[in-house]
Amino acid sequence: MADAHMGEIETFAFQAEINQLLSLIINTFYSNKEIFLRELISNSSDALDKIRFQSLTDKSKLDAQPELFIRLVPDKSNKTLSIIDSGIGMTKADLVNNLGTIARSGTKEFMEAIQAGADVSMIGQFGVGFYSAYLVADKVIVTSKHNDDEQYIWESQAGGSFTVTRDVNGEHLGRGTKIILFLKDDQLEYLEERRLKDLVKKHSEFISYPIYLWTEKTTEKEVSDDEDDETKKEEEGDIEDVDEEEEGEGESKKKKKKVKEVSHEWQLINKQKPIWMRKPEEITKEEYASFYKSLTNDWEDHLAVKHFSVEGQLEFKAILFVPKRAPFDLFDTRKKMNNIKLYVRRVFIMDNCEELIPEYLGFVKGVVDSDDLPLNISREMLQQNKILKVIRKNLVKKCMEMFFEIAENKEDYAKFYEAFSKNIKLGIHEDSQNRAKLADLLRYYSTKSGDEMTSLKDYVTRMKTGQKDIYYITGESKKAVENSPFLERLKKKGYEVLFMIDAIDEYAVGQLKEYDGKKLVSATKEGLKLDDDSEEEKKKKEEKKKSFQDLCKTIKDILGDKVEKVVVSDRIVNSPCCLVTGEYGWTANMERIMKAQALRDSSMSSYMSSKKTMEINPENGIIEELRTRAEADKNDKSVKDLVLLLFETALLTSGFSLDDPNTFAARIHTGC
Ligand code: ADP
Repeated sequence: MADAHMGEIETFAFQAEINQLLSLIINTFYSNKEIFLRELISNSSDALDKIRFQSLTDKSKLDAQPELFIRLVPDKSNKTLSIIDSGIGMTKADLVNNLGTIARSGTKEFMEAIQAGADVSMIGQFGVGFYSAYLVADKVIVTSKHNDDEQYIWESQAGGSFTVTRDVNGEHLGRGTKIILFLKDDQLEYLEERRLKDLVKKHSEFISYPIYLWTEKTTEKEVSDDEDDETKKEEEGDIEDVDEEEEGEGESKKKKKKVKEVSHEWQLINKQKPIWMRKPEEITKEEYASFYKSLTNDWEDHLAVKHFSVEGQLEFKAILFVPKRAPFDLFDTRKKMNNIKLYVRRVFIMDNCEELIPEYLGFVKGVVDSDDLPLNISREMLQQNKILKVIRKNLVKKCMEMFFEIAENKEDYAKFYEAFSKNIKLGIHEDSQNRAKLADLLRYYSTKSGDEMTSLKDYVTRMKTGQKDIYYITGESKKAVENSPFLERLKKKGYEVLFMIDAIDEYAVGQLKEYDGKKLVSATKEGLKLDDDSEEEKKKKEEKKKSFQDLCKTIKDILGDKVEKVVVSDRIVNSPCCLVTGEYGWTANMERIMKAQALRDSSMSSYMSSKKTMEINPENGIIEELRTRAEADKNDKSVKDLVLLLFETALLTSGFSLDDPNTFAARIHTGC
């Protein structure tokens, strides 16, 4: 670049969504503005983490500024508050991209959340924390120096644009970022030492870098009159030590005068001993909550915490948290949901270490600090690392323990389950080692559960004598399954049926197969055998079945390929008929789910969804009537129409969808 361009001001427009976000931040009435400091300190801390991590493999990265710190400088005369860090800094491109032209997915989501009544303090969770500066400032200047670039100045008063200029005259940062907030006139409280100290204590206590506050100290001094001149100079900020002992000695006759002396110093305002290094019994619930919040940017307390250390051949300490809610992007596959920060001997290494915890536990947040891993560990090394595998196994075990602890409190567990049941089910699908344990965490509504959900364990205690299997039905909603014809016989026998109404249940139950030695049996699939009838009754049934054989054949002929076969049912009591699916094919519910997913492959879907068996109920009046008519004349048009109508109705009551609803409607309207 030609030197002539040095210091030239370039103006950029904020990306449209960021611009909206800024207006929202500036114009929304919101009293809890103090969170801006937490956000900016947290950005500084992230930037420090990054440079420290780089320095592990290349010490020279720290050369420009060896010390790692965050500094706060309130300046009453200029009404500015500066936040300075010696983190990684931003290049010119970083300033342009990160602070204005590239919107994160969270930008829009945050605005939507705010419009829906969410709290502004959630801003950090959406990855747009920097802009919270405009809660308290009407102008912000960011000066930044990255090892790979010159020092640049970003400046904006919002209003649609920002400028970036090469910093030719300013003080050299060495490396890092200085954010100057020009405070609004009604926000001058953030110049007060007391307020800043309290804020750091409240929101940023667990930042693992020293936070210094530029403090002003006023001391009163007695001086003799002739020393007056010198003291005045000191009041203006020129600090010189005055030797008190010499002063005035032997000159007691001289007139003494009290004067104020002002001095400045950096005061360390946070403790940095990591909370996980302390003893759990000495940590209060509030301290965990405040650590959790600083770790996650959550505005609410955690739901559960597990703080433990593992000793022996391998040593590490960890704190794990379960949040109260699922984050807005829990199953966003673009975003890696890993929230365990890895430290090695107190040094932050990385915050998305995939090897530390399986994907389904991605909602668990926390820190792990290992004594055994090398400090300069690279991502490539992590993949094969045996130590990490052992840590992971331990973390999963502790997560399970934590979930079971939550389950001891009904209310908490309901919250947990609502937020994370999908993860548990995903775990059942993926984690064969912990499948049995995870199954104990499942809860379902059932034919007997009423308004509360039941565990499989409780289900088993309610099983009828003679009941060998655990029954379930899958479907779209509780309403859709609770009156399903499939349940008739089971209900009559007093067998409880679990309602699996989450799309992922189909996948989970497909893997689980059994619980406590009992098979999980679908009420809607072929092969449901409930034979505990007496010999006599069995005989009677057999005869009945025989007497309906011809009708079964007639129906099959009429329906053709629509059904695989037609049989006399064992499972329905009231309804005329139902459609069951093959034991290894898709259930109606699965067919619905797959239809909704564009990704299915159609050859698979025709194979998996074609196997429907129609079961007819010999005790039902309509079926009896149908038999009489078919016996008289099986080619009668009313027989054909009735069969088709029964089939279509059965599709609906069995949870399938109609391919051609109009013909069905027409059939109903003409009264068959
Ligand atoms: P988030 O920090 O959640 O990513 P922000 O809006 O707070 O979102 O910040 C946007 C980006 O700007 C950060 O990801 C980071 O790259 C950069 N940034 C912000 N503050 C600093 C800082 N003090 N030092 C270095 N980079 C920073």
